Amino acid sequence: MRMKHLTWIDIDRKTILANVRNLGRLAGTKVALAAAVKANGYGHGLAEMTAILMDSPVEYLALHSTLEAEAAREAGWDRKILLVGGIAPEDIDAVLRLDIEPTVFDIGFIESLGRLCRRSKTAARVHIKLETGTNRQGFNRKELDRAATVLKKYPELKVEGASTHFANIEDTTDHTYAMYQLDRFKALVEQLKAKGIVQYRRHTACSAALLLFKDTYFDLVRPGIALYGYWPSKETYVSYKLEGGRNSILKPALSWYSRITQIKTVEADSFVGYGCTYRTSTRSTIAIIPVGYCDGFDRRLSNLGYVLVKGKRAPIRGRICMNLTMIDITDIPGVKVYDTVTIIGTDGKEQITADTHAGWCQSINYEVLSRLSPLIPRQVV
Ligand SMILES: *Cc1c(COP(=O)(O)O)cnc(C)c1O
Repeated sequence: MRMKHLTWIDIDRKTILANVRNLGRLAGTKVALAAAVKANGYGHGLAEMTAILMDSPVEYLALHSTLEAEAAREAGWDRKILLVGGIAPEDIDAVLRLDIEPTVFDIGFIESLGRLCRRSKTAARVHIKLETGTNRQGFNRKELDRAATVLKKYPELKVEGASTHFANIEDTTDHTYAMYQLDRFKALVEQLKAKGIVQYRRHTACSAALLLFKDTYFDLVRPGIALYGYWPSKETYVSYKLEGGRNSILKPALSWYSRITQIKTVEADSFVGYGCTYRTSTRSTIAIIPVGYCDGFDRRLSNLGYVLVKGKRAPIRGRICMNLTMIDITDIPGVKVYDTVTIIGTDGKEQITADTHAGWCQSINYEVLSRLSPLIPRQVV
């Protein structure tokens, strides 16, 4: 749907809900869903994703920061929030104010939260992060007993979950390391049991784990990228297909459009854009679109990628600027100023996805999506 703006993003509500439904089916009815909507809902818009997910059975939003949690509450999310990132000591009261379930991986933080709860005579639910080999956040085998002792000291702190995160599950078709981490997770769960911490939900599965390994589901799964209709990687897709997985389980829900603001004829042997990196070989028709690298249109796509105009590929000419990009429409007849250009999405028989962009700039769909500027207007369609 065209907006009054010159660039905008459409989020297809039905597609997101279908992806959630298919992932939920995979997880089964006994497993709860936490939707990873950190990084502005992987670029889809946190408020927009919150509104859509309100009509789904998702129990948790998984967010990175207290600022994101605040935005989700402002957008009307009244279910649970799992915070997967850290919290500054000065901001710790946000846990109670915003009713967040933080991930804990630091003894000092547990102590501070325990003291805060005791002072304010309230309880907080926490998820203890277990270090199984990613060497990011989490308590390792040596630290865990002490963490458990401190948790026990504060009955105000209810251990609601124990979690871990895989290091090498989407980057390979060899899942030996993921299975090793799963074994370590089970061993650390036993260690918690020995310290008397038993009644909580175990959770380990990101999208790739959910798509590939039932053994990783436990009580709760935390898909991110798959909700938006993207595969975590080609390797995950190949592994899934080798296991006989269904084809149409995921479908991208985001489209990004712009409109042409100027069309000009440029003579042969003329330069286009900063650095004079492109020179026309023939008389060319160049169109200007008001999007640039500040919007998340990666500068590495300069002289490399294309957009879609009237169902045809229009190559990017010269360098992508901060707010503007020049495209070549010489071979596309009938294009007018203010016509719509598809940057991500489908036009006729052509489709450009975040994977297409990621391939062009040697990145991953996660980065392409999460760096779409929050300033681009979003609409749910
Ligand atoms: C972002 C995140 C996820 C989701 O990962 P995907 O690969 O996008 O499914 C799951 N768990 C944690 C801890 C995360 O930070």
